[in-house]
Amino acid sequence: MGKKRVLIVGSGGREHALAWKLAQSPELERLFVAPGNAGTVMWNVPISVQDIHGLVEFALKEKIDLTLVGPEDPLSLGIVDAFREAGLRIFGPTQAAAQLEGSKSFAKTIMESAKIPTAEWQVFEDSDQAKNFIETIGAPCVLKADGLAAGKGVIVAMDMETALQSVDEIMDGSFGSAGKKLLVEEFLEGQEVSLLCFSDGVTALPMVPVQDHKRALEGDLGLNTGGMGTYSPPPIWTSELEATVMRDLVTPTLQVMQERGTPFVGVLFLGLMLTKQGPKLLEYNVRFGDPETQVVMKRLRTDLLPILWACTEGCLSEIHLEWKEEVAVCVVMAAEGYPLAYSKGVPIRLPIEGNQDVVIFHAGTGISEGQLLSTGGRVLGITAEGQTLQMAREKAYAVVDKIDFPKAHFRRDIGVKGLGESEFPL
Ligand code: AMP
Repeated sequence: MGKKRVLIVGSGGREHALAWKLAQSPELERLFVAPGNAGTVMWNVPISVQDIHGLVEFALKEKIDLTLVGPEDPLSLGIVDAFREAGLRIFGPTQAAAQLEGSKSFAKTIMESAKIPTAEWQVFEDSDQAKNFIETIGAPCVLKADGLAAGKGVIVAMDMETALQSVDEIMDGSFGSAGKKLLVEEFLEGQEVSLLCFSDGVTALPMVPVQDHKRALEGDLGLNTGGMGTYSPPPIWTSELEATVMRDLVTPTLQVMQERGTPFVGVLFLGLMLTKQGPKLLEYNVRFGDPETQVVMKRLRTDLLPILWACTEGCLSEIHLEWKEEVAVCVVMAAEGYPLAYSKGVPIRLPIEGNQDVVIFHAGTGISEGQLLSTGGRVLGITAEGQTLQMAREKAYAVVDKIDFPKAHFRRDIGVKGLGESEFPL
């Protein structure tokens, strides 16, 4: 095969990280990002991620060899099905397979058929039945709206009063159409780790493990966000753990999806809770995570393009992944107020001098009259690598401190939970 023309769909930090990595591929002829952000400006085409028809037309016109989808929305809308119908090659799950993320009750049903360790659960369509059940299992417990709720449909209720109130909140439709069905789950205790895997439907290859920081404030306090930072690898992770997760969680998932006639091609992302009884699955995502991708791409040594290609060809078993030994850290700089109402259009100035160990990935940025401006909640992801976690943290924060972004909100403790006490006494 000759060189490839590649289209990335999306506009966040994840897409900038994927574009940054793909741009280094000797197999790349030309790259496009739809719609992209200020970090991907040289590749941008103004088509929204929801405009599946427009994306298909563009891919046909530009003779795109491979399309890569970042966010979950177009996947749940069936972008992969639409591209395939048009005879176009695309990396990602079909609409049917994307339900692993789009419907929490579907995901639980697959986990059950695949005998995957997960929290005990029940699904309800009636508030009173849900409340009766919660009174029998007691608090803490976890309540989840069934559909896509942009990461906001989960309430971890530490006491009975919150649990019962949350039933009404979810059922009253405060999460939109996502609230029609309610899942009540057993509360699991342990450390959370994300494991992303490439999958061609039959074979899965794990990427490096990542720990995310979902809460807005230091010390894991405050509201849930899309993610305030990540680091990789978490020291709690071991190769034995990885083997167990691949054998007991990933392989059975792929098998069940294949048996159903909906094989999973794309990135299978496992949200894991490492409990005393072993790893349990909290959730599936059906795409690269954001900001997990930033640290994963920083550590990936292997060319990304042939990996994606092999997934769409069904020959992933021929690929060998290589990773850097270095630890990577991504610190997200968000707009003031995020994750609630936040300011937009804030002018930003980035440091000029380069440092190959640190990449500033753009997320919610745009350019107006030559000026870099914030356009979203999460604005930048400063991603650094270092020989140790502490060194990577220092490099990332040294660049954060040089960025002129008035009233930026970020956490100073990204990666601290992975530091031994000797390295960073808390
Ligand atoms: P999910 O979208 O299902 O991953 O849930 C979002 C967050 O809620 C997770 O990252 C966990 O921190 C928390 N969570 C979800 N389910 C549980 C559970 N069964 N036990 C404890 N925490 C949970």
